[in-house]
Amino acid sequence: MLAAFFAAITAVPLALGLVLITTQVDQRFTDRAATELVAASQRVANAIADRETRAAQTTADLTDLLVADGQADALVEADGTALADWLAGRAGERIPERADVLLVVEPGGDLVADAGQAERATSTELAGAVARGASPDGGLLTRREVRADVDGQEQSLGWVGAFVEVDAGELAEASAVELAVLADGEVLTSSQEAPDTRPEPGEAATWEDGEQRVMATTVTTPAGDVLVWRPDPGGLALGGLLAMVAAPALLLAGGLGWLLARRMTEPVRRAAQTARAVARGDLDQHVPTAEGPAEVRELAVALNRMSSELSLRLRELEASRDALGASLERVGQTLASSLDLDRVLGVIAESAADVLDADGAHVVLRGPTGQLVVRARHGSSNRTVGDVVPSGDAGSAGGPTDPALDVGGGDDAGDGDDAGGGDDAGGGDWGASVEDRVARRGHALRVAPGSAASALAAPGLPCQLAVPLTVRGETEGVLTLLRDHPDRPFDERQEALLGSFAAQASVALENVHRHAEAQEQAATDGLTGLANVRTLHAALQREVEAAERYDRPVSVLMIDLDRFKGVNDRWGHEAGDRVLSEVARRLQGFSRAADLVARAGGEEFVMLLPETPAAGAQILAERVREAVATQPIAISSGVVLEGITCSIGVAGRHAQEGPDDLLRRADAAQYEAKRGGRNRVVVADETTEHTTPTT
Ligand code: GH3
Ligand code: MG
Ligand code: MG
Repeated sequence: MLAAFFAAITAVPLALGLVLITTQVDQRFTDRAATELVAASQRVANAIADRETRAAQTTADLTDLLVADGQADALVEADGTALADWLAGRAGERIPERADVLLVVEPGGDLVADAGQAERATSTELAGAVARGASPDGGLLTRREVRADVDGQEQSLGWVGAFVEVDAGELAEASAVELAVLADGEVLTSSQEAPDTRPEPGEAATWEDGEQRVMATTVTTPAGDVLVWRPDPGGLALGGLLAMVAAPALLLAGGLGWLLARRMTEPVRRAAQTARAVARGDLDQHVPTAEGPAEVRELAVALNRMSSELSLRLRELEASRDALGASLERVGQTLASSLDLDRVLGVIAESAADVLDADGAHVVLRGPTGQLVVRARHGSSNRTVGDVVPSGDAGSAGGPTDPALDVGGGDDAGDGDDAGGGDDAGGGDWGASVEDRVARRGHALRVAPGSAASALAAPGLPCQLAVPLTVRGETEGVLTLLRDHPDRPFDERQEALLGSFAAQASVALENVHRHAEAQEQAATDGLTGLANVRTLHAALQREVEAAERYDRPVSVLMIDLDRFKGVNDRWGHEAGDRVLSEVARRLQGFSRAADLVARAGGEEFVMLLPETPAAGAQILAERVREAVATQPIAISSGVVLEGITCSIGVAGRHAQEGPDDLLRRADAAQYEAKRGGRNRVVVADETTEHTTPTT
């Protein structure tokens, strides 16, 4: 569009200029040619007038000679023969350069004698014309009356005439133009085929004749109107010039205009295209920045910067959205599938850290005696799993408080937003740690350099955000995020977001509580279908009592899967559950009717073997160990785990030994098996075991 406009504004003025110049020059040439043609026509008229003068002179001379030569009588007597002789003699001197035809005519118009001849009229016709005094078209007729004394009285004897016939060819040759003698507008004679145009005398007319331009005029002469014409050299040259120079120049100008416009508009067009692509969401589009004028290049650079900025923001948004999505999914899946509290807490710590861009995270929960125990951690954290967090209340913390964190009431003066109501246990005291503070007060706390709580910051981790985990209205623990850079404190929005993670964690806590309660009510374990801990304890109590009463042996196998955490980590929790079920099934396969196989918790199983001494239990334990270790376990279609092993502690009951001690010894033996390298069976202090012989 713009390109066409450019081409137009270049070519149109040029074309106009050319046309103007051409017509101006053409007009000049035409005017000059017309002037020249009129002058040439005038020369033609002069030449004809000159002939007439000479013809008139001839007539006058002949008249005088006729009288002087004594031929008047012959004329009176109309003696044609005599006069013809005389005329022939004199005519030799006068014809043809002075006239074409010489005539002697009676007063009535009859021809007496003649000499020479014309092409377009007979002598008789000419004689009549002489008497009438009229000149025929296309010729010049002059006459003189012959007068003489007859009987003393002068009277008219007749006429002498001379006729000159205009020869167009000859005249044309002499005056270098083409011409035609006209009579009443009709061509009498012409040097070339005459055109149809009849311009007024003194005017010039031009017209195109094939490739030529022709100019004509009319001139009035004594022989009548003469049409004069010739080719117009100026017009012809200009027509050619226009065709040969102007047209290519116009094309060139138009082309240059077009090119210039393309150079200007192409980058703009491309910028517009890119802007449209960016608007559609294709942020990888870029405009070339090395083309076009400076302003356009600037525009291109700005546009590119805008799209890469946008693209960056979009990627950041997408990344954080993906992270949030993945985290929520992970948390959701874990919550839905797991009652393994530590694992759930680990996932929550990790996800919260990911989503809120923290360097570390940890979760503390209240232990049985009220102290805050670290249950999960992720990344850079000042806590270790299993540690007890320093607490301001020495009685409930059960551990030393950190003197560095034990800030006094003096700091409280600056606590503007936090020192209000609800400050229950801590009073004016900041507490011994962030977790302690949050657990006591039951609401979130942000720590940053310069904030009121900055004294609680961990070394190297100046920014913290901690929120309470509340179950059934009780604060059961604290979820804490940490950042290692002082310039990146957590803000309110992040506090709110962490609150929703805390809510997830609280749900998990509650589920675990519920499950534990339900488990306590039930007899069997939900995952494996084995007896649960409650059933185990009851059975153990019963069997130990019976063994004591009847002095029968009873043994216990304590079976724990080796490095089971690794299985979960590598293959996922569901695969872990699958392994647990399969191991349970195999254990069941080895049990007799009187035996009891129980899941003691997690990946720990107990086999209660009535009527079995330690030696027999050891043999069974060895078989169990082998059955677990040597047969691969399918965790999903096509995926089979090899090398799942277990460590087994075996204890046969001593005389007078209670169920708890028996279990404790089996547990100790199992611990020995782990220490000894795992995938093995260890029998508890064999020297003191019950020695009733088997039957
Ligand atoms: P080792 O006994 O050889 O010392 O190592 P381990 O990895 O087995 O020991 P640890 O007791 O530290 O870990 C036990 C793991 O068992 C941790 C926990 O995630 C997993 N676990 C406990 N209960 C369940 C459960 O119901 N399902 C699954 N899949 N895993 C469980
Ligand atoms: Mg274990
Ligand atoms: Mg284990």
